[in-house]
Amino acid sequence: MFDTILIANRGEIACRVIDTCKRLGVRTVAMHSDVDASARHVAMADVAVSLGGATPAESYLRGDAIVAAALETGAQAIHPGYGFLSENPEFVDAVEAARLVFIGPSAKAIRAMGLKDAAKALMSKAGVPVVPGYQGAEQGVDHLAAEAAKIGYPVLIKAVAGGGGKGMRLVEAPEAFADALTAAQSEAQAAFGNAHVLIEKFITSPRHIEVQVFGDGDRAVHLFERDCSLQRRHQKVIEEAPAPGMTDEMRAAMGSAAVRAAEAIGYKGAGTVEFIVDGSDGLRPDGFWFMEMNTRLQVEHPVTEAVTGVDLVEWQLRVAAGSPLPCAQEDLSLSGHAFEARLYAEDVPAGFLPATGRLAHLAFPEDARADTGVRTGDMISPFYDPMIAKVIVHGASRNVALRKLRRALAETQVAGTVTNLAFLSALANHAGFSAGEVDTGLIARDLDDLTAVADPAPAAIAQGVLALTGLDRSPAPLDGFSLWAPLEQDVQIDIADTRASVRLRALGRGAIDVTVGDTVVHARHGVNGWRFDGQAARAVFVDGSVATIFGAQTLVITRVDALDVEAGAGAGGDVIEAPMPGLVRSVFVAEGDSVQRGDRLAILEAMKMEHALLAARDGVVAEVLAAPGAQVEAGAALIRLESDAETAA
Ligand code: ADP
Ligand code: ADP
Ligand code: MG
Repeated sequence: MFDTILIANRGEIACRVIDTCKRLGVRTVAMHSDVDASARHVAMADVAVSLGGATPAESYLRGDAIVAAALETGAQAIHPGYGFLSENPEFVDAVEAARLVFIGPSAKAIRAMGLKDAAKALMSKAGVPVVPGYQGAEQGVDHLAAEAAKIGYPVLIKAVAGGGGKGMRLVEAPEAFADALTAAQSEAQAAFGNAHVLIEKFITSPRHIEVQVFGDGDRAVHLFERDCSLQRRHQKVIEEAPAPGMTDEMRAAMGSAAVRAAEAIGYKGAGTVEFIVDGSDGLRPDGFWFMEMNTRLQVEHPVTEAVTGVDLVEWQLRVAAGSPLPCAQEDLSLSGHAFEARLYAEDVPAGFLPATGRLAHLAFPEDARADTGVRTGDMISPFYDPMIAKVIVHGASRNVALRKLRRALAETQVAGTVTNLAFLSALANHAGFSAGEVDTGLIARDLDDLTAVADPAPAAIAQGVLALTGLDRSPAPLDGFSLWAPLEQDVQIDIADTRASVRLRALGRGAIDVTVGDTVVHARHGVNGWRFDGQAARAVFVDGSVATIFGAQTLVITRVDALDVEAGAGAGGDVIEAPMPGLVRSVFVAEGDSVQRGDRLAILEAMKMEHALLAARDGVVAEVLAAPGAQVEAGAALIRLESDAETAA
């Protein structure tokens, strides 16, 4: 086994690899860009090397600097993770030229699978079924259109150098072929610097089922299949193992085809053979075809780990260090069912736009595996993939695992950025998915339902408002009201772009009625804490004037300081008064200071909140009538501005 390895990656996968290294007593070297200097993977590693820069090109893609860092830190091997340099054969050559071990397949194996056309030809020769189509060199539009007609519509145009769903176009009818071809070619040229395409039969009711393989450079085994049919724009969203409806016969056929594929290229390490499956009539052993091989550890490898009990990173390290395959095919078996959901910082209603932000709060349920590269306080920056975590659950059956997935998603808490959590929850509750009726078109078909934003529940709003006023934390919940004559107050809030006013009415100890629109929510405090209309309180996180209420749909409520509004809106009076009894926290002005309308003059603490008192007009401070620390009554004069007459004089 290695003594030290360098991890040429970031985020959750770097952390994932370090976890296993720690368990095996292997020292780890992390590398990082400037943006990632205090990232979780850096904190977890024994040694960290700075690559500088921010963009991948300035940092994680600098193969030469990475090899140099490995040599300097005494690492014997480099784990590439996924993405970045993981499938770059020149990088493998450079690593090996430096007498270091690349934890993964040979450059030759990566090259063999790097282009989809060559890979398909190779697989076909090895007796692996491939999707019928044209993968020749002739790229003229007339020729390709004629091939498409031969195959029969619908067809798929694919960039031979493609990945991540780029450079791919579905064509339903001959009239649309030429335009789709132009679009696929230009996208492929821009993304991969290679405009070559192949044409494939588009499989209807397609399911994406892939097989995890593992080789030692000579022999290979498979670790069963994963179903990755839940995709949006050819990107995986939720993955599971095993595939719903899989039969022993089909599993054996797919498994041995995948092993044949791996052995045909002398595959070493972890790899995935992706198949497209015709799901229109159940799963049949003659209804699957090779699409491509991913020559690396895959994002969704944890579901395989969950159902086989194998630590794939441990296997990667052992085999790279020269050990034989840890076990034979017959030693591997499946146990239960697992799901993985990819949690992203993205704005789903805005069209799944990647989002950024500081994670003010981040928590995962205890009984789920959460693979993450971030902690509370970390930034989701615009420079890298906006993945926050992968949430993985395992259960004895698909139904049990699915219930655990729903619960795990409902209990995942993210504040500080928008996420796709509600979308994932909606998917986990989708009737077809729940029944195991999956295909790659499911998300697109039901996108409107899956992305619908429900009106926030009044009970959740009520809870958020109690949290924002601090009344939920008070041991005697009436404390917050004791300063008030009628035990009633209005709180102004913003939910998204909508402003609302919520009325709190204290009825007695531990009983507050909260009027939200036309609804009155009964908040009652009992032995088990607060209940809202009888429902248990949700988890809530308060950051200043922003409350995040977790649950099926995360709700974000911002308190609008009513006093800001009042003081600012008040007529251009001369005297700034305390709008309620409270403690003067700070005074920001002195006699003679010029102020402008809206300037903060003082802070008054009342109702367990700080309230800024703003200048209602431009002017000059004539007198400061209260000092910090003073307890003042409602209506007390705090600051007086010069009257127009004084100023003129
Ligand atoms: P999978 O089939 O496992 O989803 P993808 O090919 O979609 O694999 O890529 C997996 C992940 O690798 C992506 O989600 C992304 O985070 C990362 N990735 C892929 N290519 C790059 C790249 N060039 N630079 C940075 N990250 C990448
Ligand atoms: P990438 O390298 O971008 O991952 P793939 O060849 O793996 O490209 O295809 C990505 C996705 O496109 C698959 O997961 C599947 O959903 C869909 N797809 C690919 N080929 C076909 C096909 N022949 N018929 C139907 N769907 C397909
Ligand atoms: Mg693929």
